Amino acid sequence: MISYGRQTVDEYDIEAVLSVLRSSMITQGPVVERFEEALCDYTGAEFAVCCSTGTAALHLAVLAAGLGPSDAVLTSPMTFVATANCALFVGATPYFADIDPVTHNIDPVALEKALDERPEIKAVLPVHFAGLPADMRAIRSIAKSRGLRVIEDACHALGAELNGMDGKGVKVGACEFSDMAVFSFHPVKSITTGEGGAVTTNDPELYKRLKSFRNHGMSKAAGEERRWFYEVELLGYNYRLTDLQSALGVSQLKRLESFIIRRLEIASVYDRAFSANPLLKIPPTVDGYKSAYHLYPLEIDFEALGISRTEWFGRMEARSILPQVHYIPVHLHKFYREKFGYSVGDFPNAEAFYSREVSLPIYPTLTDAEVDGVVEAVLSSLL
Ligand SMILES: *Cc1c(COP(=O)(O)O)cnc(C)c1O
Repeated sequence: MISYGRQTVDEYDIEAVLSVLRSSMITQGPVVERFEEALCDYTGAEFAVCCSTGTAALHLAVLAAGLGPSDAVLTSPMTFVATANCALFVGATPYFADIDPVTHNIDPVALEKALDERPEIKAVLPVHFAGLPADMRAIRSIAKSRGLRVIEDACHALGAELNGMDGKGVKVGACEFSDMAVFSFHPVKSITTGEGGAVTTNDPELYKRLKSFRNHGMSKAAGEERRWFYEVELLGYNYRLTDLQSALGVSQLKRLESFIIRRLEIASVYDRAFSANPLLKIPPTVDGYKSAYHLYPLEIDFEALGISRTEWFGRMEARSILPQVHYIPVHLHKFYREKFGYSVGDFPNAEAFYSREVSLPIYPTLTDAEVDGVVEAVLSSLL
């Protein structure tokens, strides 16, 4: 079976993990710091704080931003539920602004409208859907004029690039237009540590808070007492990443550029095969933006095709291919409908995209023959 995503682990990765396992320190130690330095080098950010999952990284980011019960955040409904849940973790309320129908990222016009209606919104969480950066320049300027925090959910976008302030390309994670950027190292993402996450920032104050919340809010005394004395300064968590996982992260990060190159190659094969078909719509490209192609979201006009998406999945599965759907819009999940009273029609662009979206297999170890097999399966599924 070929699924929509999977990890790329080689013998160097395995050796890196084993060497930590043979050492004296296996939980958070020097290798975590090495991974954080490597993430800074790669993204161009000043600071990186690794943690146990991308969801923990989102939680740390909203904690560090100081968000609490009387606050609200604004994000895209076209995302994984954790992007909105992180607000609820700190008692804040998540709101949504609809996506742009072309880029599938949060629409700055809808964003501004939502902000006008809800002065309690203190932070914007743009999501770089499928790996394509959101319109960060517009989001930054809107947020700045209203004094809002910007936290990028960059879980899809390690390896993506966008034009910086000076017009030169910068990596997502450099936080050129944001306060923090959040990454996940789940096996389907650009690189993996099994489970894992990170927050990057250029703000030393946020960096300090992120580190504190990661480790029970504990701080070490200065001087001689340092041997045994620590103080709990705030309510923190155990969101630490281990040296075992960080060794895998350091090893994976060395190959990230080659992973992205392969993802782009696969995307261009799919683009060529599907672009002319009137039943299909290929993912967007935007001038000045480089997608990390975490996903290859193909839109299929199931209505014109005359079969349901479930039937289509059956046709693919008969050819050993397991696509996915990204995403069921967050506001349509039972928990969100019941807690906030959302219903179908609230965010029409996200819902229309959801009704047509299928994520085709895209990951670095997919062979040319497998890619051709996916193309053939999709084209014959339309007959
Ligand atoms: C994967 C993902 C997360 C959560 O990351 P985990 O490491 O699985 O906790 C959050 N947001 C988005 C957009 C993601 O794709």
